[in-house]
Amino acid sequence: AKEQGRNNWQLYERTLTTRTTARLVLEGDIRKALERGEFRLFYQPQVRANDGAVIGIEALIRWQHPQRGLVFPGQFIPVAEESGLIVPMGEWVLNAACSQVREWQRSGVMVPRVAVNVSARQLGTPDFLDTVAAIIAATGVAADLVELELTESILMDPEAKRIKGLFRLRAMGVHFSIDDFGTGYSSLSYIKRFPIGTLKIDQSFVRGLPQNADDAGITTAIIAMARSLDLGVIAEGVESREQLDFLQRAQCPKLQGYLFSRPVPPDEMEALLRRGRIV
Ligand code: C2E
Ligand code: CA
Ligand code: CA
Ligand code: CA
Repeated sequence: AKEQGRNNWQLYERTLTTRTTARLVLEGDIRKALERGEFRLFYQPQVRANDGAVIGIEALIRWQHPQRGLVFPGQFIPVAEESGLIVPMGEWVLNAACSQVREWQRSGVMVPRVAVNVSARQLGTPDFLDTVAAIIAATGVAADLVELELTESILMDPEAKRIKGLFRLRAMGVHFSIDDFGTGYSSLSYIKRFPIGTLKIDQSFVRGLPQNADDAGITTAIIAMARSLDLGVIAEGVESREQLDFLQRAQCPKLQGYLFSRPVPPDEMEALLRRGRIV
């Protein structure tokens, strides 16, 4: 038993070392990729439930890796978060999204609000407010066209200074939404302490629609809650006609998901924006 214990330990240690090394290599690769400009933004439309008009777009990061091809955020965001690289990466994302909006506008495209994901770590940096304000000023985008998607965990730790910063951005015109809503533990009293405009119903609930009674109940409750709090609400991860039917009956005003479009590169999004709606 003693011998086996040692073998297990050696195995554990070896796995741990391999993991740590892989992580460090990835961290270095992300750093280089930021310098070399290998990240890209894809965009996914958000549509009005009753007519399919594109009323918003969400920017989602991709890594155009020279060897591995297109790498999805699940493969690098966790390491970026842990290493702190999410901070410069997040700045790059916001700047790229705002610049893209201006570029589209200059070529005569009507651009709706663009939603950008902000990680808790990024929001926690002391100069978050200044950075966002500086990017908006430098790109010349209307602040009203910028929406920052925060996660519920951010609401759990409401540092007074941070709340003030969010209200300052809101006063400039910037919008805020809560991503993956329903998966955390935020209470209504928390939500009301922040300048939140929209709740995004997490796709894990939408996935179970319409059969799963719990998911149906939660979805209906979030829509009702949003309405009574005078908040916007959007359902994410809509993939099927049945889910669409349920959400339309439940009077969910905005929808996002593969049923309408996958996240697409900028040129495809431009073509979609020129059409204005998804049929
Ligand atoms: P998220 O913010 O919840 O984004 C929604 C994810 O669901 C995206 O995955 C999107 O492609 C995917 N999705 C959209 N519609 C459907 C659908 O109908 N069905 C299914 N199954 N999935 C759908 P993606 O692009 O791989 O991003 C994953 C996560 O990575 C995001 O989840 C977000 O948490 C994070 N992320 C992406 N871009 C950024 C970024 O620029 N900054 C930060 N901090 N995080 C980001
Ligand atoms: Ca999001
Ligand atoms: Ca989400
Ligand atoms: Ca998510």
